[in-house]
Amino acid sequence: MTDALWFDPSLMLIGGTWQSASDTLPLINPSDGSPLARIARGQVGDIDAAVQAAHTARDGDWGRLTATERGRILTEIGRRVLARVDELAELEAHDVGKPLTQARADAVALARYMEFYGGAADKVMGETIPYLDGYTVYTLREPHGVTGHIVPWNYPMQIIGRSVGAALAMGNACVLKPAEEACLTALAFAHIAREAGLPDGALNVVPGLGAEAGAALAAHPGVQHISFTGSVRTGALVQQAAGANVVPVTLELGGKSPQLVFDDADLDAALPFLVNAGIQNAGQTCSASSRILVQRGAYDAARNRMADAYEALTVGPAMDDLRVGPLISIRQKQIVDGFLARGADLTIAAQGHLQNAPDTGAYVRPTLFADVPPDHMLARDEIFGPVQVLIPFETEEEAVSIANSTDYGLVASIWTANGARQMRLAKALQAGQIFINNYGAGGGVELPFGGVGKSGHGREKGFEALYGFSTLKTVAAHHG
Ligand code: NAD
Repeated sequence: MTDALWFDPSLMLIGGTWQSASDTLPLINPSDGSPLARIARGQVGDIDAAVQAAHTARDGDWGRLTATERGRILTEIGRRVLARVDELAELEAHDVGKPLTQARADAVALARYMEFYGGAADKVMGETIPYLDGYTVYTLREPHGVTGHIVPWNYPMQIIGRSVGAALAMGNACVLKPAEEACLTALAFAHIAREAGLPDGALNVVPGLGAEAGAALAAHPGVQHISFTGSVRTGALVQQAAGANVVPVTLELGGKSPQLVFDDADLDAALPFLVNAGIQNAGQTCSASSRILVQRGAYDAARNRMADAYEALTVGPAMDDLRVGPLISIRQKQIVDGFLARGADLTIAAQGHLQNAPDTGAYVRPTLFADVPPDHMLARDEIFGPVQVLIPFETEEEAVSIANSTDYGLVASIWTANGARQMRLAKALQAGQIFINNYGAGGGVELPFGGVGKSGHGREKGFEALYGFSTLKTVAAHHG
């Protein structure tokens, strides 16, 4: 691992300088439980210094750049990320336990976010508004100023790409607090961004504990926007803290996303999506599809085919690059094991198999439950592990009612050849993204993403994120 670590992971980036914190925290490799590195344990004072540095950047070199110049820097970051995809993937595999192929896809997505937002930076425009006689009215899109980014451990590169990328494109200066469980690629990204010419203080990175550095960032009065991805409980705390400063927040808080499979669905096409959306990143995905609703006529076939797919799933160390790696930590494994124990009254249709998985790693066998009542805890709560429930239904109305019956609403998909049903359900399902005869659509850097209900609010990705990371000023000029 040390070979892959081409930077000192114990440092924070504040105002263009890599500096030590007063204390450090251990990073653990979830594939075998071995110590990986020590990272900075940023404190209130470090967050304060980072926010000040970001303001200095906004008032200085970074704030003075034109949108085109900002875009060029982001595009250059993207080019450099793309050139180092394999290194980044290896870091992520060790840190998150993500199988190499999946970690590599995240690194490519990070590059793609930088390309997208690099290209978009100078294409965000205001408008002119017809108004009273003798007036010219127009709007200006302006950055918030300093934005805070609190990022979880499950997709560090993708979440940094979509939030920091969009914020920088709009001209904000960022303070990034990566997760204490996994922050190597956040640090690597900051090094690459510096090499690509990002000015001092435009991006500051302060690793640390959520209750310390994270809470300090959420509550800092010098921050003008907070973007948070993680648990509902912590998201609510972040919103409260930001609310005290009347600061807007974007919250992306996970889900219990359903796929609805009707009798007329093309099961051959659906099967890889049904399974992969549940076990990708060992199910630790905000948009994981953890509920598979199947109409009676297709139920037995779907159940049998999914069970076969589960039996073929292998689980092992990230560097072995199997379909499923370990969970992020023993703590997360205990949470998921707890859910599996709550399913003792249910039927297990199939489970995947461990392969060369050390006892010291955070492994869970992917588990498919069949015939699950829609009100069962496993059909309602976010598990954040490789666990899916199969729920039979009879009618379209029943399917919609079950799909909409959780507290969440992030993603939903509809598998049917019936065009009218596709249109009806796209409207009826409560979710921020609807997929018809697919799930996830290639990652979707360009596609606005976010939830309703306890899945959060605000939209990331695509152009929509640029609106979220900016504020609108209306100028009304009276000239007679
Ligand atoms: P978390 O929400 O506590 O942590 C996410 C981020 O928030 C981390 O960077 C953390 O340091 C920070 N944080 C923690 N407490 C904070 C506070 N008081 N103020 C500000 N920031 C704070 O999530 P977790 O404990 O790592 O995971 C627990 C559960 O959350 C998981 O089992 C899963 O259900 C959910 N989760 C969801 C996502 C997602 O993508 N939506 C990601 C990670 C975890």
